[in-house]
Amino acid sequence: MNFNTSLLHGKAVKFYEHGATLPSIVQSNAFRYSSAEELDKVFSHKAMGYAYSRVANPTVAAFEQRINELEHGNAAVGCSSGMAAILLSLMNILCTGDEIIASSGLYGGSIDLFEDLKKFGITARFVDSMTVDRIEPLINEHTRVVFGEVISNPSLKIMDVEEVSKLAHAYGIPLLVDATTATPYLINPIDHGADVVIHSTTKYINGSGDSIGGIIIDGAHFPWDFEKFEALSSYSKFGKVAYTVRLRTDIAENLGGYMSPMTAFLNVIGLETLGLRMNKICCNAARLATALSKLPGIEVNYPLNNEDNIRIARKQMRGMGGGILTFRAGSKEKAFNIINDLKYVVKATSIGDVRTLVIHPDSTLYVKNTPSQKEAAGVYEDTIRVSVGIEDVEDLIEDFTDAVNKNI
Ligand SMILES: *Cc1c(COP(=O)(O)O)cnc(C)c1O
Repeated sequence: MNFNTSLLHGKAVKFYEHGATLPSIVQSNAFRYSSAEELDKVFSHKAMGYAYSRVANPTVAAFEQRINELEHGNAAVGCSSGMAAILLSLMNILCTGDEIIASSGLYGGSIDLFEDLKKFGITARFVDSMTVDRIEPLINEHTRVVFGEVISNPSLKIMDVEEVSKLAHAYGIPLLVDATTATPYLINPIDHGADVVIHSTTKYINGSGDSIGGIIIDGAHFPWDFEKFEALSSYSKFGKVAYTVRLRTDIAENLGGYMSPMTAFLNVIGLETLGLRMNKICCNAARLATALSKLPGIEVNYPLNNEDNIRIARKQMRGMGGGILTFRAGSKEKAFNIINDLKYVVKATSIGDVRTLVIHPDSTLYVKNTPSQKEAAGVYEDTIRVSVGIEDVEDLIEDFTDAVNKNI
């Protein structure tokens, strides 16, 4: 089954109650049982069943199964946001004293989160790009995770997932990837060696910008060393599925960041058109990037603007570069004026919407970050970030061309 067909007819698409083509929205906190004994079994994980919607819920499970199938995972856990997914995915294996190796070009929220983790004795060491030659020198006896984005937002560098995972595995370290900007349409990171995949479903998976959510998918291929990964030591009898079991029965349950049933339902609907939308979005973004790069006075960054990225994109991402581009306008004033003169596109934060969204990251998303963090993320005072939507590309090109020509 090819990608778009599997979105509609994959194994995880069930015969839902009453023959419905979509799962029911089970908007119930607790689940009723006919005896104390039954409830006891469900709570002690001796019997299958739902107990409480912070822990598991049938609508969320329907969404989890669909994403898990698409990403070729062992299990998926829905979360209340992309940030909750990143936090839970890390807390599941980290202890005080552990180190993370990550890219300095990460999503600003992730950089801020790593700052918070410092207070718990967890240190992030940053590389300016997720390449073997940059990562290897930072690996030491405390390193427990390599964490990166497949296409970094907004620095727009592509990670070679196969090479980075081989390096991490050679040192007995798992690779966790945030694949939000790439989506399962462009890449299934587990097939390329990643151990755990995280998505902010808020973005392309939901697609319409109507609910905040996240998801963690565990490939369950990583051979955990239970002395080294102390956090998993009491799960050693589960072997390669130890990560899944602790996530499901401990961390996700206790930290309380589970996805809501309504969000899961909206995500199931969004997911059905992911392939259609991503195809259109990537084509639009590539065409808009080409058109913008012909205009004098601005500098465009799109993932497919260098040979290295094109080679990696061909190998792992259907040859496509995603839906985000940035460009530099020459000054903050010009950037603001261009944004203000755009007619069709929406001036708003977020990415992955059907609508084209435009923002000035320096004064918004990166307002809390230091100048060196901004530079590492490719954010300058004249940078404009565009999350390309599914509009007719001729209209987008005309809108941006007019706004740029008027101001530069
Ligand atoms: C938006 C985003 C997040 C955070 O997701 P939320 O759903 O907003 O919490 C994490 N990583 C990337 C790459 C993102 O774009």
